[in-house]
Amino acid sequence: MPRLVCFRCGDAQLEQPQAYVYLLGIYLGDGYLVPFPRDVWHLRIFQDERYPGLIAECDQAIRAVSHRRVGHVKKIGCVQISCYWKHWIHVFPQQGPGPKWLRPIRMAAWQQTLIETYPAELLKGLIHSDGTRFVNPITRRFAGRVVRYSYPRYMFSNASDDIRSLFIESCERLAVRWTQTNARNVAVSRSADVAFLDTFIGPKF
Ligand SMILES: [Zn+2]
Repeated sequence: MPRLVCFRCGDAQLEQPQAYVYLLGIYLGDGYLVPFPRDVWHLRIFQDERYPGLIAECDQAIRAVSHRRVGHVKKIGCVQISCYWKHWIHVFPQQGPGPKWLRPIRMAAWQQTLIETYPAELLKGLIHSDGTRFVNPITRRFAGRVVRYSYPRYMFSNASDDIRSLFIESCERLAVRWTQTNARNVAVSRSADVAFLDTFIGPKF
């Protein structure tokens, strides 16, 4: 008898809830569940090939949640990180027809409890999928001299109102000030908040 390893329908415990919440953020931002025969689901996540650290973190999170083998396939400019498992549909019940931004994305009660407990991990997963940390160059004239400096900002970009709301709610749980910069972008720009996010997110690596 194979050991049941699903923390939703089986007898396994969710041993690393932070890893689950991080993976949930990645999945919501840019993950896909593709159906296969015999009720198997294929989780597919794409990361830029320039960020081996992000690829490794994603790989570890998938293993922590599923205890399954993780595949890496090089594509043009990116790496597909993937895993076959019957239980992805239990741990990511947001799966449905069509893209996520065309349908409501609601958290199950058990997911809501987890994301309220680990808001930093959700923010990290969302930024590691649909987010960026970039440096704004600024040129100012000061006392007759041209002064150039730069400051980093975080930006989260997603077409789903519900997924952007999850990002915003997680910012608010951590007392991080956010601004909506256009219909699909939310920015964190205040230097103290950027410094705080840098303690657990930082530049992509
Ligand atoms: Zn299950």
